[in-house]
Amino acid sequence: MNHNEATIAALATHPGMAAIAVIRICGPLAFDVVEKVFRPAGGKVLKDAVGYSILFGKLHDSGKVIDEVLLSIFRAPHSYTGDDTLEISCHGSVFIQQEILQLLYRNGAEPALPGAFTLRAFLNGKMDLSQAEAVADLIASGNQTSHALAMQQLRGGFSTRIKKLREDLLNFLALIELELDFSTEDVEFADRSTLETLVKHILDVIERLRDSYAMGNVLKNGIPVAIVGMPNAGKSTLLNALLNEERAIVSDIAGTTRDTVEDEVVLDGFGFRFIDTAGLRETSDTIERIGIERSRKSIREAALVLYVFEPETWRNGSAKSELERIVQEVSDHAKVLCVLNKCDVVGSAILHELPGNSFSISAKEGRGLDALQSALVSFAKAGSEQNDLLVSNARHYTALGKAADSLHAVLRGLELRISGDLLSRDLRDALDALSEITGEVDNEEVLGTIFGKFCIGK
Ligand code: GDP
Repeated sequence: MNHNEATIAALATHPGMAAIAVIRICGPLAFDVVEKVFRPAGGKVLKDAVGYSILFGKLHDSGKVIDEVLLSIFRAPHSYTGDDTLEISCHGSVFIQQEILQLLYRNGAEPALPGAFTLRAFLNGKMDLSQAEAVADLIASGNQTSHALAMQQLRGGFSTRIKKLREDLLNFLALIELELDFSTEDVEFADRSTLETLVKHILDVIERLRDSYAMGNVLKNGIPVAIVGMPNAGKSTLLNALLNEERAIVSDIAGTTRDTVEDEVVLDGFGFRFIDTAGLRETSDTIERIGIERSRKSIREAALVLYVFEPETWRNGSAKSELERIVQEVSDHAKVLCVLNKCDVVGSAILHELPGNSFSISAKEGRGLDALQSALVSFAKAGSEQNDLLVSNARHYTALGKAADSLHAVLRGLELRISGDLLSRDLRDALDALSEITGEVDNEEVLGTIFGKFCIGK
């Protein structure tokens, strides 16, 4: 069956009781199906209704009225999916929702699979693949930053950038493939040094986009912040202070936090995932050791590490050596902030001895937390501003990596002066990888570019 032959229906709002629920029906039979069960008020006729209008009326099942509803009308191609679409706003009783859905299914609609409406929008050319993915991100966005990232992708900023890169590569591929048609004549339409400059430029753009994923991904999913330190340094107290609730168990018995405790907070529009970890120390306790191993893993995976310590442990050198170890462990893009805790007891006398990025706080009394939170926000801001476009989708990241590998192969090929057909293969691989992002893999395009640029009859 053709992708848009079926008429599909589903609940568009959250299942469960609410003031209103919306049921969507879309496809060539949408009007036929609804006409059988909907009686508009005021003697109006559904089929006469124009797009972008709303009708009020009753939904009935063999004469029995199920609900009074509003019907929003979208006529193809001016709808989200591109097909005829009707949206029924009904009272949000779970019973009514189910009755209406069953009614539509009995009258010719099929249950829609997850994402079916957006899939249809993609297949109908209403949006490309990366924009379709952005719809899912937008719905899942829980803070200002993840919302902004999804919006940017939905508006097509990323797709436009990818399309431009593809066009530039396609132009060259077209020239190189034309050479192949004249292979006996030893002509070179595509100037190799211009190609090299172009590929280097494109590679630079692609690698920057690919590298932005490290930040884009954490901004979308919440910046992972590991709170680490020795037992009793005050990690759990700090977590609770940052979360403003009693989430982690605070105790002066060392080794209380044996597993990681995690929670999310939004600061200045950025989502942070704080992870309280088991205290780092030598131990013979098997369970505690597993916890410590998890702490080490959190350190490796964190974008930010808050190293919490007490003045005493800094004075005796143990905190310093632990800090040095942590700095070695963190990932390339991560940052370590030193947090001297319990300044209510000893003040901040030793602060001048500490490395830069140090903060003096009292987790217990909530002192110094503002400065620490500002540092967290600054880190997030700097990350979000490092590139005008941040890649936040793992599939795009992989595709960009593949494109970059193929372009490196093109550059090596140019250096070795390999033949046009081999070059064209690597260029095609790069193009295919970029096409995966927007979902348009089409070899006709290459031909189109050749015919569009050259008068073949000449
Ligand atoms: P963790 O093992 O690193 O998670 O440390 P906890 O948060 O469980 O705290 C250990 C002990 O230090 C508890 O008795 C806390 O009340 C105490 N503590 C934590 N932060 C502070 C602080 O800022 N000042 C003081 N005086 N005591 C603190």
